[in-house]
Amino acid sequence: MAQYKTTAAKPVQVTLPNGLKYEQPTGLFINNEFIQAQGGETREVENPSTNEKIVDIAAGNEQDVEYAVEVAEKAFNSEWSTQDPKLRAKHLYKLADLIEENEDLIAAIETTDNGKTLALSHNDIKLAINCLRDGAAYADKVDGRVINSGDTHINFTFHEPVGVCGQIIPWNFPLMMMIWKISPALAMGNTVILKPASATPLNALFVANLAKKAGFPPGTLNVIPGSGSKVGSAITNHKKIRKVAFTGSTNVGRSTAVEASKANLKKVTMELGGKSAHLVFDDVDIEKAVPNLVAGILANAGQVCSAGSRVYVQEGIYDKVVDAFKKYVEENVKVGDPFDESNYQGAITNEQQYKTILEYIKVGQKEGAKIHGGKKLGGKGYFIEPTIFYDVKGDMRIVKEEIFGPVVVVGKFKTLQEAVELANDSEYGLAAAIETTNLSTALTVSRKLQSGTVWVNTYNDFDSRVPFGGVKQSGYGREMGKEVYEAYTNVKAIRIKL
Ligand code: NAP
Ligand code: MG
Repeated sequence: MAQYKTTAAKPVQVTLPNGLKYEQPTGLFINNEFIQAQGGETREVENPSTNEKIVDIAAGNEQDVEYAVEVAEKAFNSEWSTQDPKLRAKHLYKLADLIEENEDLIAAIETTDNGKTLALSHNDIKLAINCLRDGAAYADKVDGRVINSGDTHINFTFHEPVGVCGQIIPWNFPLMMMIWKISPALAMGNTVILKPASATPLNALFVANLAKKAGFPPGTLNVIPGSGSKVGSAITNHKKIRKVAFTGSTNVGRSTAVEASKANLKKVTMELGGKSAHLVFDDVDIEKAVPNLVAGILANAGQVCSAGSRVYVQEGIYDKVVDAFKKYVEENVKVGDPFDESNYQGAITNEQQYKTILEYIKVGQKEGAKIHGGKKLGGKGYFIEPTIFYDVKGDMRIVKEEIFGPVVVVGKFKTLQEAVELANDSEYGLAAAIETTNLSTALTVSRKLQSGTVWVNTYNDFDSRVPFGGVKQSGYGREMGKEVYEAYTNVKAIRIKL
């Protein structure tokens, strides 16, 4: 695009709350350069724990996407997509190493930008590193088949990269979502245009800089911060982008899938919302089950698509579990400064989400559920107490709708059958969990639950080798595992007449 004149964007020295200093890239990352947005726009990035400004970041628009598509297509049509996959793998391994070397800094950036505790940021980074190494290891392992159709022909298949891939991610796991998406896409030989969430663009740009150091050629990975309505929509609607991977809310996901299809029938994968059920059977050791309930809903302040936000307890132990849950939260879940290691729960990531959660807490009270917690913390930052609604009824909005915060609803069931019915009574189907010591209960219920993941005696327990994704209105397609590579390849069949 001849008219596209690039102007360098200078990095800014940032001092993080724990004293670490670093250079934050502030430009759009296109063609291995940090550049100002064509429209000259920038957006302030806020630390949600203090409400202070961290830095201003360039905010792109349709023209920037246009330029990125051009360089990404050029990169795709170079040796990048056809070379020995081991050569691409080298860059992915190198990027994993660079992230590992910078782990403390990246964790501090994530905690500052997102508000999650430092411990959680480290967990996310470890999973991201594994995911990159998996991508590298898989680069030459996605093999085709030889198909026997008799001695008149030879048939075989190749898995080929799709082309330029658009990837749109949310603010709850900024670094991890980025790596979950770019690792398989790049490993398979695609090129990428990634749009981070407006609220949390810092690590995407920092890691883009590391990717350049890791040797990814210009145009293979591009990162364009900017609004969903400009950058996100331009990606979704672009005719030369061949795939869009979206993680975010079900509503935006639904319109993204429609637009992507209307534009050019691009391949689409969707990781959307959830209202996941966590079932507690009466054979459990309550002391072991309760920490899992807490990890299910309070990790990342409940801003997890797979959060165990609906807890159902078998009637014989219901009162005991509710009491133990409240007691455990009171004694062990401190809320506050995510850099303070004694805190389990950090800040809500942005003001809009903070208000939404507080609104839902009011709704639950109006609907007549009993409540424990539910207050916002005074002072700076977006902090909300863990909130347990119990004795809830099935038709309450707080039971039906995704809240995406540290708010759980607790209800009761009698039989295994009823537990399954309650769990499946949702338009969502991302995850579910079962607390039981009975193997038969665990296996029977696991098979009956309508969800992409079932955890047994654990929660939010991810491994880069295990696929993750939803059914029903939680979306389609899988992240991680070998299943993710399907999203980033097309099958070519070759049939030769002898
Ligand atoms: P969101 O509003 O749907 O935003 C997600 C991403 O889409 C952001 O990058 C956003 O950009 C962008 N976007 C917004 N409008 C767009 C449009 N018209 N076209 C294209 N892109 C657009 O969701 P969120 O509030 O950031 O995240 C919370 C939701 O995501 C929750 O519902 C949660 O369950 C879901 N989630 C699901 C998973 C999963 O794996 N299934 C993981 C994490 C989160 P801006 O930031 O600029 O608005
Ligand atoms: Mg932020």
